[in-house]
Amino acid sequence: MPTETFEFQVEARQLLQMMIHSIYSNKDVFLRELISNASDALDKLRLEVLRDEEAQEDVSDLHIDIEVDKEQRTLTVRDNGIGMSHDDVVQLIGTIANSGTAKFLQELKEAKDAAASEELIGQFGVGFYSSFMVADEVTLVTRRAGESHGTRWESSGEGTYTVEPVEDAPRGTAVTLRLKPEDTEDQLFDYTSAWKIKEIVKRYSDFITWPIRMAAEAKAEDDGADREIETVNSMKALWARSRSEVTDEEYSELYKHVSHDWTDPLETIRMQAEGTFEYQALLFIPSHAPQDLFAQGHKRGVQLYVKRVFIMDDCEALMPEYLRFVKGVVDAQDLSLNVSREILQQDRQIQLMHRRLVKKILSTLKDMMSDNPDRYATFWREFGRVLKEGLLSDFENRDAILGVSSFASTLDAEKPTTLRDYVERMKEGQQHIFYMTGESRSAIESSPHMEAFKAKGFEVLLLTDPVDEVWVESVPEFDGKPLQSIAKGEVDLDTEEEKKEVEAEREKQQQDFAGLLSWMTTRLSEDVKEVRLSSRLTVSPACIVGDTHDATPALANMYRAMGQEVPHIKRILELNPTHPLVNGLKKAHAEQEADGGLAEAAELLYGMALLADGGELSDPSRFIRLMADRLERTL
Ligand code: ADP
Repeated sequence: MPTETFEFQVEARQLLQMMIHSIYSNKDVFLRELISNASDALDKLRLEVLRDEEAQEDVSDLHIDIEVDKEQRTLTVRDNGIGMSHDDVVQLIGTIANSGTAKFLQELKEAKDAAASEELIGQFGVGFYSSFMVADEVTLVTRRAGESHGTRWESSGEGTYTVEPVEDAPRGTAVTLRLKPEDTEDQLFDYTSAWKIKEIVKRYSDFITWPIRMAAEAKAEDDGADREIETVNSMKALWARSRSEVTDEEYSELYKHVSHDWTDPLETIRMQAEGTFEYQALLFIPSHAPQDLFAQGHKRGVQLYVKRVFIMDDCEALMPEYLRFVKGVVDAQDLSLNVSREILQQDRQIQLMHRRLVKKILSTLKDMMSDNPDRYATFWREFGRVLKEGLLSDFENRDAILGVSSFASTLDAEKPTTLRDYVERMKEGQQHIFYMTGESRSAIESSPHMEAFKAKGFEVLLLTDPVDEVWVESVPEFDGKPLQSIAKGEVDLDTEEEKKEVEAEREKQQQDFAGLLSWMTTRLSEDVKEVRLSSRLTVSPACIVGDTHDATPALANMYRAMGQEVPHIKRILELNPTHPLVNGLKKAHAEQEADGGLAEAAELLYGMALLADGGELSDPSRFIRLMADRLERTL
């Protein structure tokens, strides 16, 4: 097969340009990325051999080699791992699979300064492409285990790459960087120095469980022929060492290896269980959400090891979906190395472990909330939306999840509140935790439903995430206090005394308005199931409310978007008996026979209430025509 030339995918090209023009200042990390890939390739090969008894591969000496050539100014990272086929190379090295790439690149374009760009790149992580920060040409020679031919990939990162077959490639992958000319201003930039390389390996990759080997630095009199080869890393699995032996930096680097993130984690969680079922876990909560957290098929981030041997990525049996942002490693002693995903799902000990891990994560969040509010605020901003999914799926831990959740509130525009704090602030006699769901804070705050709550000084939680629409339906209470939507059912904010005061007046209003209400109920029966007087309005003439158990319009829309049939739900129109417009209607209704003009007014009132609620008119042009007619008559 002749040499083929391919173009990089557009996103890949853009990323490469950034690497070449070095918007990331810590260039040392390229080596960590190459070693991380090599280590994964060794893990994969060992696993393949474990699974496939027929496999003819020699896995007795799996390792990573680093070679530098001062003269040629090259640096090679070589592994004898799984390798890649021709198609793998084109697929994996020519494109970027991350589904959040386009969004990420857009944000990067909009980033105001170098520091912001650097932070974004750090959050994204660039893997293999980071080689182009230090190299002007990269060659990769690889042979997939089990295949006879190898593949050479080569590129200067400028838009195209070439691929050609090679006859005699050893199994595994060798990545050779032709280093950019030495920057004399900056001595740190010499990646041909064995000393420098060793330092970087120690710093970023010490815990890698495979030997990373390298020739010792040549002495002046040395001709380089038989320099001593040494293993540079200690190879100790961090999770098997005691806490005092491991520095925070080391934990951070392990996190970066397992997560492909370049930034430090927000929190590190260690767990060790002894006894009949022994395991160690090292879990991390990232400091930012990845771009694809809500993309379909986003993987869970916990790896399973058995007795130090990597078994699988994305071990869904260990972590529920709503904790998919948690990264890390779980190493179990008593599982078979041959364990499969199907078996794991059934395994009772794994289920027990799953429960313990979840409880530990939730209790860590609880501690974070009280001990480090700033850190908790970051956590909530990044992952709150995901965690709340657990309210729908993890019945057992629902109270714990509610306990570590925060919600925007009318109390403070900047700071979300916990339910516990809300409950402590509840007014005397207040029975319910009030909330309202909606598109945005401003939409909810300006909704007519808020009026009485504002006027009487009741705090209301403002729930604007799509998932909020769903969980509020299934969470009846917190701490014995029922959750109550202010847009549903009847509200009763009066104290006993107030009730006595207004009772007579209410009754009179009911009598006064009875005629109008029943006429309007009939008149608008296609759209609403009832027209009644409201106790929640102070300023607006009317509003739309749902029955206690009705789905909200937003929830109905969500179900429709998911392709489900949702019956049209008729809601309730409430009128403000103190509003002049409503009183005008009552008067007109009492005085004249219900004629066309009055019917139109009723229709307009309903349309206005619907709009104020964020709803859509069924016939907007008719609404506008009626409105224009009315306006004209007032001029
Ligand atoms: P990431 O490691 O974040 O997935 P990279 O760009 O670093 O992204 O690598 C892309 C893919 O190329 C890897 O997921 C892996 O499948 C493959 N790959 C990279 N390096 C090696 C290697 N040394 N051996 C085998 N496969 C590799």
